Amino acid sequence: MQISFIDERLEDLYLKVLKNSRLSREDGIIIYETHDLIGLGRIANHVRKALHGNRAFYIYNEHLNYTNICKNRCRFCAYAKDKGQEGAYVFSIEEIEKRLMTHMDEPVKELHIVGGLNEDLKFDYYIDLLKTIRRIRPHATIKAFTCVEIDYLSTLAGLSLEETIKRLKEAGLAMMPGGGAEVLNKRIQEELFPRKIGHERWLEIVKAVHKAGIKTNATMLYGHIETLEERVDHLISLREVQDETGGFSAFIPLAFHSENTELSHLPPTTAVDDLKNVAAARLMLDNFEHIKAYWVMIGESLAQVALSFGADDLDGTIMEERITHTAGAKSAKGLTRNQMEDLILTAGFDPVERDSFYNPVNGLA
Ligand code: SF4
Repeated sequence: MQISFIDERLEDLYLKVLKNSRLSREDGIIIYETHDLIGLGRIANHVRKALHGNRAFYIYNEHLNYTNICKNRCRFCAYAKDKGQEGAYVFSIEEIEKRLMTHMDEPVKELHIVGGLNEDLKFDYYIDLLKTIRRIRPHATIKAFTCVEIDYLSTLAGLSLEETIKRLKEAGLAMMPGGGAEVLNKRIQEELFPRKIGHERWLEIVKAVHKAGIKTNATMLYGHIETLEERVDHLISLREVQDETGGFSAFIPLAFHSENTELSHLPPTTAVDDLKNVAAARLMLDNFEHIKAYWVMIGESLAQVALSFGADDLDGTIMEERITHTAGAKSAKGLTRNQMEDLILTAGFDPVERDSFYNPVNGLA
């Protein structure tokens, strides 16, 4: 199909995409530099349509953040608190059980679980957490823990990485959400999260998790101090891991929210940048099947537009989002199934309710 572009550089890029040629680092930089947003969207939409046609996925899921007490205190994080600080909390296993039991009529297909590195919790807590959820929700997928938590749990348990993953898997861990890398870059780690694991350890852990047969997602937190080149390098690193392991399920660009963080002077991301990140992911990550537009971070309306810029998934109902809302997100805290479907339908796509592994699901669990 002939398309004319305002930015002529997109013509070569489009030809490469039509020939299924892998895009280079230079191509990635053009994607972020271009002002031809509509042209870029058309190329990304071409790839998205070839992979998924008119389908747009969502999941009936629930978020559970078991504690916000964290020893790392990353500079960009609004969620973490110190022990004893106002608003600090930790849910006991009994409290988690009670919370889940309050809405057993909801057909939740996935529990998304992440939390801070709370030094009061023992390794047994995490095992009990997984076992309790598996008992209460045997048909839901437990998607839990970032690579940062896995690294911490390995030290806490005094076990090798492989043995830690094995024990968590036996207790019910079926998938991982993939966060914690932020941007795979030493400079950014040193400036923003010096106490958290760096990119080399993150990559080592994610590969070990994939090797253990556990799928993960991957993310990139953008809109803070990273350069365009660093974004592209992050995407290329993930693409290389995917070539090696095939263990990534979806990629999720995460728009940074600065409220209540040490970086609160930074402005919010723009709609243009949000859409470019979705398109960049769709075009650079040629070996990822799914790209999510995470409506919590970019808002419901822009997530709809993102479905025409390369995204094929709006994530899920969530029920009660805590992390991004402590950083000032203005989106809803949760959506109903009808709301998810309306967002997709009114954007011109066919909604498909899925499970964690992108199998279509019908009706109630
Ligand atoms: S980003 Fe994660 S590791 Fe860093 S302070 Fe927040 S909860 Fe802790």
